[in-house]
Amino acid sequence: AKKNTKKDNKNQNLRCPIVCVLGHVDHGKTTLLDKIRKTRVAKREAGGITQHIGASEIPIDVIKRLCGDLLKMLKADLKIPGLLVIDTPGHEAFTSLRKRGGALADIAILVVDINEGFKPQTVEAVNILRQCKTPFVVAANKIDLIPGWNSKEGPFILNFNEKAQHPNALTEFEIRLYENIIKPLNELGFDADLYSRVQDVTKTVCIIPVSAVTGEGVPDLLMMVAGLAQKFLEDRLKLNVEGYAKGTILEVKEEKGLGTTIDAIIYDGIAKRGDYLVVGLPDDVLVTRVKALLKPKPLDEMRDPRDKFKPVNEVTAAAGVKIAAPELDKVIAGCPIRIVPKDKIEEAKEEVMREVEEAKIEVDDE
Ligand code: GDP
Repeated sequence: AKKNTKKDNKNQNLRCPIVCVLGHVDHGKTTLLDKIRKTRVAKREAGGITQHIGASEIPIDVIKRLCGDLLKMLKADLKIPGLLVIDTPGHEAFTSLRKRGGALADIAILVVDINEGFKPQTVEAVNILRQCKTPFVVAANKIDLIPGWNSKEGPFILNFNEKAQHPNALTEFEIRLYENIIKPLNELGFDADLYSRVQDVTKTVCIIPVSAVTGEGVPDLLMMVAGLAQKFLEDRLKLNVEGYAKGTILEVKEEKGLGTTIDAIIYDGIAKRGDYLVVGLPDDVLVTRVKALLKPKPLDEMRDPRDKFKPVNEVTAAAGVKIAAPELDKVIAGCPIRIVPKDKIEEAKEEVMREVEEAKIEVDDE
Protein backbone atom coordinates (compact mmCIF):
# COMPACT_ATOMS: atom_id res chain seq x y z
CA ALA A 1 0.00 0.00 0.00
CA LYS A 2 2.87 2.29 0.87
CA LYS A 3 4.39 1.79 -2.52
CA ASN A 4 1.12 2.79 -4.19
CA THR A 5 0.88 6.05 -2.30
CA LYS A 6 4.32 6.97 -3.41
CA LYS A 7 3.47 6.22 -7.01
CA ASP A 8 0.28 8.27 -6.81
CA ASN A 9 2.16 11.22 -5.45
CA LYS A 10 4.63 10.97 -8.23
CA ASN A 11 1.88 10.96 -10.80
CA GLN A 12 0.25 14.02 -9.32
CA ASN A 13 3.39 15.87 -10.19
CA LEU A 14 3.29 15.11 -13.87
CA ARG A 15 2.83 18.28 -15.86
CA CYS A 16 0.90 18.67 -19.11
CA PRO A 17 2.88 17.62 -22.17
CA ILE A 18 3.56 20.54 -24.54
CA VAL A 19 2.17 19.80 -27.99
CA CYS A 20 3.15 21.53 -31.23
CA VAL A 21 1.43 21.25 -34.64
CA LEU A 22 3.52 21.12 -37.85
CA GLY A 23 2.87 20.45 -41.53
CA HIS A 24 2.68 21.83 -45.05
CA VAL A 25 0.82 25.07 -45.72
CA ASP A 26 -2.92 24.61 -46.35
CA HIS A 27 -2.97 21.05 -45.03
CA GLY A 28 -5.18 22.26 -42.17
CA LYS A 29 -3.02 23.08 -39.13
CA THR A 30 -4.94 26.23 -38.19
CA THR A 31 -8.35 24.67 -38.80
CA LEU A 32 -7.41 21.65 -36.70
CA LEU A 33 -6.16 23.84 -33.84
CA ASP A 34 -9.39 25.84 -33.98
CA LYS A 35 -11.42 22.67 -33.89
CA ILE A 36 -9.46 21.41 -30.88
CA ARG A 37 -9.89 24.75 -29.11
CA LYS A 38 -13.64 24.67 -29.68
CA THR A 39 -13.85 21.16 -28.28
CA ARG A 40 -16.52 21.16 -25.65
CA VAL A 41 -18.03 18.17 -24.06
CA ALA A 42 -21.80 18.15 -23.44
CA LYS A 43 -22.85 21.67 -22.60
CA ARG A 44 -23.82 21.37 -18.97
CA GLU A 45 -20.79 19.39 -17.94
CA ALA A 46 -18.15 21.44 -16.25
CA GLY A 47 -14.74 21.92 -17.70
CA GLY A 48 -13.48 22.80 -21.08
CA ILE A 49 -10.47 24.32 -22.72
CA THR A 50 -8.50 26.81 -20.65
CA GLN A 51 -6.94 29.65 -22.57
CA HIS A 52 -3.31 30.41 -21.76
CA ILE A 53 -1.09 33.03 -23.32
CA GLY A 54 0.01 31.47 -26.62
CA ALA A 55 -1.41 28.06 -25.80
CA SER A 56 -4.60 26.18 -24.94
CA GLU A 57 -4.93 23.60 -22.21
CA ILE A 58 -7.20 20.61 -22.72
CA PRO A 59 -7.89 19.03 -19.34
CA ILE A 60 -7.62 15.27 -19.21
CA ASP A 61 -11.29 14.97 -18.15
CA VAL A 62 -12.35 16.56 -21.41
CA ILE A 63 -10.22 14.12 -23.38
CA LYS A 64 -11.58 11.18 -21.37
CA ARG A 65 -15.18 12.22 -21.88
CA LEU A 66 -14.63 12.81 -25.60
CA CYS A 67 -13.12 9.37 -25.99
CA GLY A 68 -15.52 7.31 -23.90
CA ASP A 69 -15.06 3.62 -24.65
CA LEU A 70 -12.25 4.39 -27.04
CA LEU A 71 -9.97 4.77 -24.01
CA LYS A 72 -9.86 1.00 -23.61
CA MET A 73 -7.57 0.96 -26.64
CA LEU A 74 -4.86 2.63 -24.57
CA LYS A 75 -4.53 -0.15 -22.02
CA ALA A 76 -3.32 2.43 -19.51
CA ASP A 77 -4.83 5.09 -17.29
CA LEU A 78 -4.20 8.64 -18.31
CA LYS A 79 -2.48 10.31 -15.38
CA ILE A 80 -1.25 13.50 -16.99
CA PRO A 81 -3.35 16.57 -16.11
CA GLY A 82 -4.04 17.38 -19.77
CA LEU A 83 -2.37 18.68 -22.90
CA LEU A 84 -0.92 22.13 -23.45
CA VAL A 85 -1.25 22.82 -27.16
CA ILE A 86 0.80 25.70 -28.59
CA ASP A 87 -1.57 28.00 -30.52
CA THR A 88 0.88 28.97 -33.28
CA PRO A 89 1.39 26.17 -35.78
CA GLY A 90 4.39 25.63 -38.04
CA HIS A 91 8.06 24.73 -37.98
CA GLU A 92 9.10 28.20 -37.04
CA ALA A 93 7.17 28.14 -33.81
CA PHE A 94 8.50 24.65 -33.14
CA THR A 95 12.15 25.47 -33.76
CA SER A 96 12.12 28.78 -31.91
CA LEU A 97 10.63 27.06 -28.88
CA ARG A 98 13.80 25.59 -27.53
CA LYS A 99 15.04 24.44 -24.21
CA ARG A 100 18.22 22.86 -23.04
CA GLY A 101 18.87 19.71 -25.06
CA GLY A 102 16.36 20.22 -27.85
CA ALA A 103 12.85 21.22 -28.57
CA LEU A 104 10.51 22.60 -25.98
CA ALA A 105 7.56 20.68 -27.38
CA ASP A 106 7.32 17.23 -25.83
CA ILE A 107 5.35 15.78 -28.70
CA ALA A 108 4.24 16.93 -32.15
CA ILE A 109 1.26 16.48 -34.42
CA LEU A 110 2.29 16.36 -38.07
CA VAL A 111 -0.68 17.40 -40.19
CA VAL A 112 -0.82 15.87 -43.68
CA ASP A 113 -3.69 16.25 -46.15
CA ILE A 114 -4.51 12.60 -46.89
CA ASN A 115 -5.58 13.56 -50.42
CA GLU A 116 -2.44 15.52 -51.27
CA GLY A 117 0.15 13.56 -49.36
CA PHE A 118 3.69 14.62 -48.51
CA LYS A 119 4.90 18.04 -49.69
CA PRO A 120 8.27 19.76 -49.22
CA GLN A 121 7.32 21.27 -45.87
CA THR A 122 6.04 17.91 -44.66
CA VAL A 123 9.42 16.34 -45.36
CA GLU A 124 11.15 19.30 -43.74
CA ALA A 125 8.99 18.92 -40.64
CA VAL A 126 9.78 15.20 -40.37
CA ASN A 127 13.49 15.99 -40.60
CA ILE A 128 13.24 18.63 -37.89
CA LEU A 129 11.34 16.23 -35.61
CA ARG A 130 13.90 13.53 -36.23
CA GLN A 131 16.78 15.90 -35.48
CA CYS A 132 15.15 17.04 -32.24
CA LYS A 133 14.16 13.45 -31.38
CA THR A 134 10.61 14.66 -30.80
CA PRO A 135 8.02 11.87 -30.91
CA PHE A 136 5.13 12.59 -33.24
CA VAL A 137 1.85 11.29 -34.56
CA VAL A 138 0.43 12.01 -38.00
CA ALA A 139 -3.00 13.61 -38.29
CA ALA A 140 -4.14 12.45 -41.74
CA ASN A 141 -6.45 15.38 -42.36
CA LYS A 142 -9.34 16.14 -44.73
CA ILE A 143 -10.77 12.62 -44.74
CA ASP A 144 -14.16 14.24 -45.40
CA LEU A 145 -12.88 14.92 -48.94
CA ILE A 146 -12.31 11.24 -49.71
CA PRO A 147 -14.90 10.45 -52.42
CA GLY A 148 -18.00 8.97 -50.80
CA TRP A 149 -16.68 9.31 -47.23
CA ASN A 150 -19.44 9.83 -44.72
CA SER A 151 -17.71 12.03 -42.17
CA LYS A 152 -19.16 12.92 -38.81
CA GLU A 153 -18.00 14.43 -35.57
CA GLY A 154 -16.60 12.03 -32.99
CA PRO A 155 -14.22 9.09 -32.90
CA PHE A 156 -12.89 7.99 -36.27
CA ILE A 157 -12.67 4.38 -35.24
CA LEU A 158 -16.43 4.14 -34.68
CA ASN A 159 -17.06 5.55 -38.15
CA PHE A 160 -14.59 3.28 -39.90
CA ASN A 161 -16.56 0.18 -40.89
CA GLU A 162 -18.82 -1.22 -43.59
CA LYS A 163 -21.96 -0.03 -41.82
CA ALA A 164 -20.90 3.59 -41.82
CA GLN A 165 -19.01 3.73 -45.14
CA HIS A 166 -19.55 2.61 -48.71
CA PRO A 167 -17.02 -0.11 -49.72
CA ASN A 168 -15.60 2.18 -52.41
CA ALA A 169 -14.97 4.91 -49.86
CA LEU A 170 -13.15 2.41 -47.62
CA THR A 171 -11.00 1.27 -50.55
CA GLU A 172 -10.24 4.85 -51.51
CA PHE A 173 -9.29 5.57 -47.90
CA GLU A 174 -6.87 2.64 -47.77
CA ILE A 175 -5.23 3.68 -51.05
CA ARG A 176 -4.72 7.28 -49.94
CA LEU A 177 -3.53 6.21 -46.50
CA TYR A 178 -0.91 3.95 -48.02
CA GLU A 179 0.20 5.93 -51.07
CA ASN A 180 0.09 9.40 -49.55
CA ILE A 181 1.21 8.81 -45.99
CA ILE A 182 2.59 5.37 -45.12
CA LYS A 183 4.78 5.06 -48.22
CA PRO A 184 6.42 8.50 -47.99
CA LEU A 185 7.06 7.93 -44.28
CA ASN A 186 8.67 4.58 -45.09
CA GLU A 187 10.87 6.34 -47.63
CA LEU A 188 11.99 8.70 -44.90
CA GLY A 189 12.90 5.75 -42.70
CA PHE A 190 9.81 5.57 -40.49
CA ASP A 191 7.57 2.59 -40.05
CA ALA A 192 3.98 3.87 -39.93
CA ASP A 193 0.43 2.57 -39.82
CA LEU A 194 -3.16 3.42 -38.99
CA TYR A 195 -3.03 3.87 -35.21
CA SER A 196 -5.50 1.08 -34.47
CA ARG A 197 -3.25 -1.38 -36.33
CA VAL A 198 -0.03 -0.42 -34.57
CA GLN A 199 1.36 -3.16 -32.35
CA ASP A 200 4.33 -1.35 -30.88
CA VAL A 201 4.05 2.41 -30.64
CA THR A 202 7.77 2.68 -29.89
CA LYS A 203 8.60 1.40 -33.36
CA THR A 204 5.74 2.54 -35.56
CA VAL A 205 4.43 6.05 -36.17
CA CYS A 206 0.70 6.22 -35.44
CA ILE A 207 -1.51 7.74 -38.13
CA ILE A 208 -4.82 9.17 -36.97
CA PRO A 209 -7.32 10.05 -39.72
CA VAL A 210 -9.14 13.30 -38.98
CA SER A 211 -11.27 16.00 -40.46
CA ALA A 212 -10.59 19.42 -39.02
CA VAL A 213 -13.89 20.52 -40.57
CA THR A 214 -16.27 17.87 -39.21
CA GLY A 215 -14.25 17.04 -36.11
CA GLU A 216 -14.03 13.36 -36.99
CA GLY A 217 -11.00 11.72 -35.41
CA VAL A 218 -10.25 14.55 -32.97
CA PRO A 219 -10.96 12.30 -29.93
CA ASP A 220 -8.69 9.57 -31.36
CA LEU A 221 -5.97 12.14 -31.99
CA LEU A 222 -6.07 13.68 -28.51
CA MET A 223 -6.16 10.25 -26.90
CA MET A 224 -3.12 9.03 -28.81
CA VAL A 225 -1.13 12.21 -28.15
CA ALA A 226 -1.93 12.00 -24.44
CA GLY A 227 -1.21 8.26 -24.30
CA LEU A 228 2.08 8.46 -26.14
CA ALA A 229 3.31 11.46 -24.20
CA GLN A 230 2.57 9.72 -20.93
CA LYS A 231 4.16 6.47 -22.05
CA PHE A 232 7.40 7.86 -23.45
CA LEU A 233 8.00 11.07 -21.68
CA GLU A 234 7.22 10.34 -18.08
CA ASP A 235 10.64 11.48 -16.93
CA ARG A 236 10.47 14.61 -18.98
CA LEU A 237 7.00 15.39 -17.65
CA LYS A 238 7.91 15.10 -13.99
CA LEU A 239 7.23 18.50 -12.59
CA ASN A 240 9.85 20.09 -10.46
CA VAL A 241 7.39 21.33 -7.83
CA GLU A 242 10.02 22.65 -5.48
CA GLY A 243 12.05 24.23 -8.18
CA TYR A 244 11.88 27.59 -9.87
CA ALA A 245 10.37 28.21 -13.25
CA LYS A 246 12.17 27.46 -16.51
CA GLY A 247 10.79 28.71 -19.79
CA THR A 248 11.27 30.14 -23.24
CA ILE A 249 10.10 33.42 -24.75
CA LEU A 250 7.41 32.98 -27.38
CA GLU A 251 6.89 36.64 -28.23
CA VAL A 252 7.84 40.12 -27.12
CA LYS A 253 4.87 42.49 -27.13
CA GLU A 254 4.04 46.06 -26.34
CA GLU A 255 0.89 46.27 -24.21
CA LYS A 256 -0.98 49.45 -23.31
CA GLY A 257 -0.36 50.32 -19.70
CA LEU A 258 2.19 47.53 -19.22
CA GLY A 259 4.99 48.57 -21.55
CA THR A 260 7.09 45.84 -23.16
CA THR A 261 5.97 42.41 -22.00
CA ILE A 262 6.98 38.87 -22.88
CA ASP A 263 4.76 35.92 -23.65
CA ALA A 264 6.50 32.82 -22.37
CA ILE A 265 5.95 29.10 -22.15
CA ILE A 266 6.92 27.72 -18.74
CA TYR A 267 7.94 24.08 -19.11
CA ASP A 268 9.08 23.30 -15.59
CA GLY A 269 8.67 24.54 -12.03
CA ILE A 270 6.60 27.34 -10.52
CA ALA A 271 6.83 31.02 -11.42
CA LYS A 272 6.07 33.54 -8.64
CA ARG A 273 5.22 37.21 -8.89
CA GLY A 274 7.86 39.37 -7.24
CA ASP A 275 10.67 36.90 -8.00
CA TYR A 276 13.48 37.75 -10.37
CA LEU A 277 13.30 37.21 -14.10
CA VAL A 278 16.60 36.07 -15.60
CA VAL A 279 16.78 36.15 -19.42
CA GLY A 280 19.60 34.71 -21.53
CA LEU A 281 20.32 37.15 -24.37
CA PRO A 282 22.68 36.40 -27.28
CA ASP A 283 25.58 38.24 -25.61
CA ASP A 284 24.30 39.20 -22.21
CA VAL A 285 22.06 38.22 -19.31
CA LEU A 286 19.21 40.41 -18.13
CA VAL A 287 18.11 40.28 -14.50
CA THR A 288 14.92 42.14 -13.68
CA ARG A 289 11.97 41.82 -11.31
CA VAL A 290 8.64 40.24 -12.25
CA LYS A 291 6.06 43.01 -11.89
CA ALA A 292 3.10 40.92 -12.99
CA LEU A 293 2.23 37.43 -14.19
CA LEU A 294 -0.77 37.61 -16.46
CA LYS A 295 -3.23 35.11 -17.87
CA PRO A 296 -5.97 35.85 -20.38
CA LYS A 297 -9.16 37.03 -18.76
CA PRO A 298 -12.14 34.76 -19.43
CA LEU A 299 -14.55 36.45 -21.86
CA ASP A 300 -17.31 36.73 -19.26
CA GLU A 301 -15.03 38.68 -16.93
CA MET A 302 -13.87 41.09 -19.60
CA ARG A 303 -15.70 44.36 -19.06
CA ASP A 304 -13.45 46.43 -21.23
CA PRO A 305 -11.76 44.92 -24.32
CA ARG A 306 -8.53 46.74 -23.41
CA ASP A 307 -8.55 44.96 -20.09
CA LYS A 308 -7.52 41.59 -21.48
CA PHE A 309 -5.40 40.12 -18.73
CA LYS A 310 -5.84 38.85 -15.25
CA PRO A 311 -2.95 39.06 -12.77
CA VAL A 312 -2.04 35.89 -10.89
CA ASN A 313 0.40 35.27 -8.06
CA GLU A 314 1.94 32.14 -9.46
CA VAL A 315 1.95 29.90 -12.49
CA THR A 316 2.72 26.18 -12.54
CA ALA A 317 4.20 24.39 -15.55
CA ALA A 318 3.30 23.63 -18.23
CA ALA A 319 1.73 27.00 -18.96
CA GLY A 320 1.70 29.99 -21.24
CA VAL A 321 1.95 33.31 -19.39
CA LYS A 322 2.50 37.00 -20.07
CA ILE A 323 5.20 38.60 -17.92
CA ALA A 324 5.44 42.30 -17.23
CA ALA A 325 8.81 43.55 -15.96
CA PRO A 326 11.09 46.54 -16.46
CA GLU A 327 13.84 46.56 -19.12
CA LEU A 328 12.32 44.01 -21.47
CA ASP A 329 13.06 46.10 -24.57
CA LYS A 330 16.25 44.16 -25.36
CA VAL A 331 14.87 40.64 -25.17
CA ILE A 332 13.91 38.55 -28.19
CA ALA A 333 11.76 35.52 -28.95
CA GLY A 334 13.47 32.20 -28.28
CA CYS A 335 15.53 33.43 -25.32
CA PRO A 336 15.63 31.08 -22.31
CA ILE A 337 14.24 32.42 -19.03
CA ARG A 338 14.20 31.54 -15.34
CA ILE A 339 12.04 33.02 -12.61
CA VAL A 340 13.86 32.71 -9.29
CA PRO A 341 14.13 34.03 -5.75
CA LYS A 342 17.03 36.37 -5.01
CA ASP A 343 19.43 33.69 -3.75
CA LYS A 344 19.15 31.71 -6.98
CA ILE A 345 19.95 34.52 -9.40
CA GLU A 346 23.58 33.53 -9.95
CA GLU A 347 22.70 29.89 -10.58
CA ALA A 348 19.97 30.93 -13.02
CA LYS A 349 22.36 33.29 -14.84
CA GLU A 350 24.81 30.46 -15.41
CA GLU A 351 22.08 28.16 -16.64
CA VAL A 352 20.68 30.55 -19.22
CA MET A 353 24.16 31.55 -20.43
CA ARG A 354 25.02 27.91 -20.99
CA GLU A 355 21.78 27.42 -22.86
CA VAL A 356 22.44 30.40 -25.13
CA GLU A 357 25.95 29.12 -25.87
CA GLU A 358 24.62 25.67 -26.71
CA ALA A 359 22.01 27.13 -29.04
CA LYS A 360 24.80 29.06 -30.82
CA ILE A 361 26.80 25.89 -31.35
CA GLU A 362 23.74 24.13 -32.75
CA VAL A 363 23.19 26.97 -35.21
CA ASP A 364 26.85 26.83 -36.29
CA ASP A 365 26.50 23.12 -36.92
CA GLU A 366 23.69 23.52 -39.43
P1 GDP B 1 -2.72 25.61 -42.63
O1 GDP B 1 -2.04 26.49 -43.65
O2 GDP B 1 -2.05 24.29 -42.53
O3 GDP B 1 -2.92 26.26 -41.31
O4 GDP B 1 -4.17 25.26 -43.25
P2 GDP B 1 -5.59 25.89 -42.92
O5 GDP B 1 -6.08 25.42 -41.61
O6 GDP B 1 -5.54 27.35 -43.16
O7 GDP B 1 -6.50 25.17 -44.01
C1 GDP B 1 -6.33 25.39 -45.40
C2 GDP B 1 -7.66 25.19 -46.09
O8 GDP B 1 -8.08 23.84 -45.98
C3 GDP B 1 -8.80 26.03 -45.52
O9 GDP B 1 -9.60 26.48 -46.58
C4 GDP B 1 -9.55 25.06 -44.65
O10 GDP B 1 -10.92 25.37 -44.54
C5 GDP B 1 -9.36 23.76 -45.40
N1 GDP B 1 -9.41 22.59 -44.50
C6 GDP B 1 -8.65 22.38 -43.42
N2 GDP B 1 -8.94 21.20 -42.85
C7 GDP B 1 -9.90 20.65 -43.60
C8 GDP B 1 -10.62 19.41 -43.54
O11 GDP B 1 -10.44 18.55 -42.66
N3 GDP B 1 -11.55 19.18 -44.53
C9 GDP B 1 -11.79 20.09 -45.51
N4 GDP B 1 -12.73 19.78 -46.41
N5 GDP B 1 -11.13 21.24 -45.60
C10 GDP B 1 -10.19 21.53 -44.67
